[in-house]
Amino acid sequence: MSFEAPARKASWSNWAGNQHVASVSLFKPRSEEEIQQVVEFAISKKNRVKVVGSGHSFTAIALAEDVLVDLSDYDAVIAIDKLAKTVTVQAGIQLSKLNSILHENGLAMQNLGDIAYQTIAGSISTSTHGTGIKFTGIANQVVALRVVLADSTVVDCTSTSNSDLFNCARVGLGALGIISTVTLQLVSAFNLSVIEQPMRVDELLENLDHHIALNDHFEFFWVPHTGWALTKRNNRTLEPAEPMGKMSHWYAKTLMENYAFGAVCMFGKSRPSLIPKLAKALPASGKTTYSDASYKVFASKRIVKFYEMEYAIPREACAEALNRVRRLVEDSGFFLNFPVEVRFTAPDEIPLSTASNRESAYIAVHIYKGMDFVPYFKAVESIMNSYQGRPHWGKLHFQNSQTLAPRYPNWNLFQSVRDQVDPKRLFANTYLETVLGK
Ligand SMILES: Cc1cc2nc3c(=O)[nH]c(=O)nc-3n(C[C@H](O)[C@H](O)[C@H](O)COP(=O)(O)OP(=O)(O)OC[C@H]3O[C@@H](n4cnc5c(N)ncnc54)[C@H](O)[C@@H]3O)c2cc1C
Repeated sequence: MSFEAPARKASWSNWAGNQHVASVSLFKPRSEEEIQQVVEFAISKKNRVKVVGSGHSFTAIALAEDVLVDLSDYDAVIAIDKLAKTVTVQAGIQLSKLNSILHENGLAMQNLGDIAYQTIAGSISTSTHGTGIKFTGIANQVVALRVVLADSTVVDCTSTSNSDLFNCARVGLGALGIISTVTLQLVSAFNLSVIEQPMRVDELLENLDHHIALNDHFEFFWVPHTGWALTKRNNRTLEPAEPMGKMSHWYAKTLMENYAFGAVCMFGKSRPSLIPKLAKALPASGKTTYSDASYKVFASKRIVKFYEMEYAIPREACAEALNRVRRLVEDSGFFLNFPVEVRFTAPDEIPLSTASNRESAYIAVHIYKGMDFVPYFKAVESIMNSYQGRPHWGKLHFQNSQTLAPRYPNWNLFQSVRDQVDPKRLFANTYLETVLGK
């Protein structure tokens, strides 16, 4: 494949439809050599390069300005080592495909977020995480990377070789190069037993430490305009899976969580003042228990489109911060038809990980697609600012490099690696200029 000829011009937009570009040069390389050729092409044209995953970021982090590299044809599993429990994959593989292949081989990722549509490289690049105070985000499961740099050379990196690049590129925001392959540390396949149950939010917050400590993967969704939270307690089990029946699964996960919820959101969008009444119907659902393979429990279908902002704050500030969000909603007159999601993770040492050097609580707010998110998100952001909150790199926020730098203890290491590997900012775009500086 040669990139002498001009590439196909294409438009692009993200999953939520709030980021789009009308005309960029699109490349779909199928090998590492072809990725290198795209980089050479961009250098020769003095273009900037943006590699995209599956477009599941809400921010403009994946917005290409000149050259767009789509790795959806570069998505194979290269090697599985069952003894060492590792897998090496091409960067464009989607987590859903990877999860199925791992399961067939008796292996699994240690923890996942709540969807699996993302690519492995896209998910680690923005610090994607799930929940579980003993577990970290996905980037911390990475043990080796191969990266195509801004001079088109390829470098291997691990915690012992090119370690600064390795540490930074695990949550690299796409700013340090094109990740070509990713090696992950896995665990043996496991089942999760699930309890989904509404709880009074005041009681839940009083016993928060207990819920976090006693469950491998604890999360909850506070339903605005109500005193209720929907909780999920997922625990590792050696018992055989007892999944929901097909019909119950379809009813709970497809009809209720997606179509019925979508209809409620659409109705609320046209009659916002009815949202508090509609919200009161949500927590009425009872307790549900089942168990299944971990990757099937962690990740769900998401059909209803929305905009999202999520902040990582010190875990011990969680109850106070959430109570401030609750008061804000009561006092402000915002009509909110999406629950506020709260999750927890262990710290890691990755410079731009949202959990870098601190045990974290994540508070995520959502707005139905097409509704004005700015006043609500800005008001919640000002609460999160008082806890040195770190925004998810792929979810909406209003920060810049000056406000972000003091919130990351190893911010300067990332900047010096960036200066070293991409001094001419081949991999920059406007979003990266805002959050990292020029
Ligand atoms: C419905 C929904 C649910 C979500 N759930 C969660 C969740 O549970 N937890 C969570 O933390 N986040 C969640 N997210 C956010 C999502 O995980 C992140 O935005 C993730 O980065 C998206 O991955 P992607 O493959 O779509 O990457 P994109 O959004 O396409 O790209 C993200 C970044 O990765 C970079 N990138 C992609 N490929 C490469 C590569 N090969 N080399 C270098 N850089 C690369 C891009 O340049 C860009 O900077 C959710 C998003 C949606 C829409």
